[in-house]
Amino acid sequence: MNIILLGPPGAGKGTQAQRIVRKQGLIQLSTGDMLRAAVASGSDLGKEAKKVMDAGQLMPDALMIRMISERIDQPDCRGGFILDGFPRTIPQAEGLDRMLAEKGLRLDSVIEMKVDEEALVQRITGRYTCAKCGAGYHDSFQRPQSDGVCDHCGGSGITRRADDNEETVRTRLEAYRAQTEPILPYYGEKGILRSVDGMASIDEVADQIETALAAA
Ligand code: AMP
Repeated sequence: MNIILLGPPGAGKGTQAQRIVRKQGLIQLSTGDMLRAAVASGSDLGKEAKKVMDAGQLMPDALMIRMISERIDQPDCRGGFILDGFPRTIPQAEGLDRMLAEKGLRLDSVIEMKVDEEALVQRITGRYTCAKCGAGYHDSFQRPQSDGVCDHCGGSGITRRADDNEETVRTRLEAYRAQTEPILPYYGEKGILRSVDGMASIDEVADQIETALAAA
């Protein structure tokens, strides 16, 4: 099964993708994670990506389509994948359709995570991950049991995304509204779009997604 998780930054796409990975064995393909890896490697692509990401803007469509296409060709994607953060524009959605047709693959479901925009700023600016194992936390909503110590691995270092500050978040939300939201009717017309309530608890959202995927 090949699916897309669609929703604004902070909707919980990454969190839910990890759940689906654990439960259904699909591979999570996050273009944001790929770009952050490029930034960490210090490559030319990474240097370019850092500027664009820090400004809350979007990377060029052709580059993103190529990046995803090459990743989908890897053998671990044969059992199915979850696209998280891609496509983000109509040209990316069209490029994805062409690419999947060429590869003899199809898209089974697009899940929209609906969220209240004001809640997003609070969600995003407070989130962080364990530097050692990547487990996700939040200053207000999901603190570790013991302050400063990861529940999962006992690590004590944390990482916050450079673009998770209020100013950049507002620009990212603008980009979502202007460039990504128009994708919804594109998939609506294809009859594969399902919406879930992204404001519900993590478990509840996971249940809603499972139900939507079972019907796909
Ligand atoms: P994310 O982790 O999905 O929130 O992505 C972080 C940042 O990476 C975005 O704000 C964009 O600057 C860039 N990015 C990630 N995915 C895409 C994409 N599909 N198209 C363009 N830019 C992207």
